[in-house]
Amino acid sequence: MKSVTVIGASLAGLYAARALRAQGYDGRLTIVGAEPHRPYDRPPLSKEFLTAPATTAEDPSTEDPSTEDLSTEGQLALTDAEEVAGLDAEWLLGTRATRLDPRQRTIRLDTGRTLTTDGVVLATGAAPRRLPGPAPAGSHTLRTLDDARALRADLTCGGPARVVVIGGGFIGAEVAASCAALGHQVTVVEAAPLPLVPQLGYAMAELCSRLHGDHGVALRTGTGVRGLHSAGRDDRVTGVELSDGRLLPADVVVTGIGVRPATDWLEGSGLPLGDGVRCDAGCVTPIPTIVAAGDVAHVAGARAEHWTNATEQAATAVHNLLAGRTARTHRALPYFWSDQYGVRLQFAGHHRPGDVPRIVEGSPDDRSFLARYERDGRTTAVLALNRPRPFMRLRRELARATQPAPTA
Ligand SMILES: Cc1cc2nc3c(=O)[nH]c(=O)nc-3n(C[C@H](O)[C@H](O)[C@H](O)COP(=O)(O)OP(=O)(O)OC[C@H]3O[C@@H](n4cnc5c(N)ncnc54)[C@H](O)[C@@H]3O)c2cc1C
Repeated sequence: MKSVTVIGASLAGLYAARALRAQGYDGRLTIVGAEPHRPYDRPPLSKEFLTAPATTAEDPSTEDPSTEDLSTEGQLALTDAEEVAGLDAEWLLGTRATRLDPRQRTIRLDTGRTLTTDGVVLATGAAPRRLPGPAPAGSHTLRTLDDARALRADLTCGGPARVVVIGGGFIGAEVAASCAALGHQVTVVEAAPLPLVPQLGYAMAELCSRLHGDHGVALRTGTGVRGLHSAGRDDRVTGVELSDGRLLPADVVVTGIGVRPATDWLEGSGLPLGDGVRCDAGCVTPIPTIVAAGDVAHVAGARAEHWTNATEQAATAVHNLLAGRTARTHRALPYFWSDQYGVRLQFAGHHRPGDVPRIVEGSPDDRSFLARYERDGRTTAVLALNRPRPFMRLRRELARATQPAPTA
């Protein structure tokens, strides 16, 4: 293979580029990224980035964003100049891939340029779902550094504000926690009777949802949103109308209602799409020279939206791309974390409805405990609030127990 193009210059894209060089690939490497920034870390964007004071690097118009020093902004940078030089890649930042033609082995870019390539790593991640209708000033979604800068500017421009967070998932909960820490009056609106039930099951979701109340954040569950109200010459948001007709006054609104994988540009490519790019268990599409990793990849029937998954899949995808076939499969135990209200929540494993959680250490009243999910006497998943060390021990045990036995 003489040339590989990575589409998506973020977490999975960077880890794929690293894996290519680490696994001995010495051909032409091109990395295409729609955002103008070098790879940066998204998890801090809903957490410490929002609560940290803005730095002088805040105004991107004053500098070349592709060389900006993101390490000054809440340690966001995922790479540095030395590694960038070592990767020996052509970086096309602020450039969007608009079409993939597997038969011609070409990728069209929004700059008008067309790349010809032997191998492709698809790492385009996901984009936030939005409410229908126009988005007035003061209403936000949160996926990118630029989103986070805009939200932080609104949260820090005056005194206490009324913030409504639509969606009580992990990102919604983290944003709510950050807004509460900044002294704002926060309401979380969740359409389900309780947030996080699909991820944690009812009992553990109920315990975690108590964190909102502990910190004075109101949780309105079981109601959807009809729309946003806005007023004034600058059309600023003034409230959130709920599906039951109630109106929540709001100065700032953050919508965190999930994401959709960024596959629009692949329509017509012939690749199987459907909740992401459909791949086998080795992150390989039906065309062996095209692999996918991270939030965009639907691997062996499942798609994950977690940091660790993106990094692990990148290595597997690249291994198989260079092998020209599915020589290795992605079998890592799912793992994610979330930081809310000073509490670190960690989860590993596969939770299915009917699994029974059992607290084995600590106490929910202290917001510090370790729980095992069990089915037929076997542990299927582990959850911890503020118990990082014992959690890691159980996570390793579970990973060992769920690994398939090596074949002779
Ligand atoms: C605010 C926030 C907080 C999070 N917190 C946590 C956490 O606490 N724990 C955890 O486990 N996970 C967390 N995550 C999830 C984690 O960050 C993601 O799983 C991870 O970023 C996925 O990496 P990725 O490279 O697959 O996709 P992304 O990071 O989404 O990167 C995809 C990149 O591809 C680019 N792109 C898209 N389309 C094109 C195109 N056509 N051409 C070129 N480029 C394109 C995008 O602009 C983007 O830069 C968080 C995510 C967010 C947004």
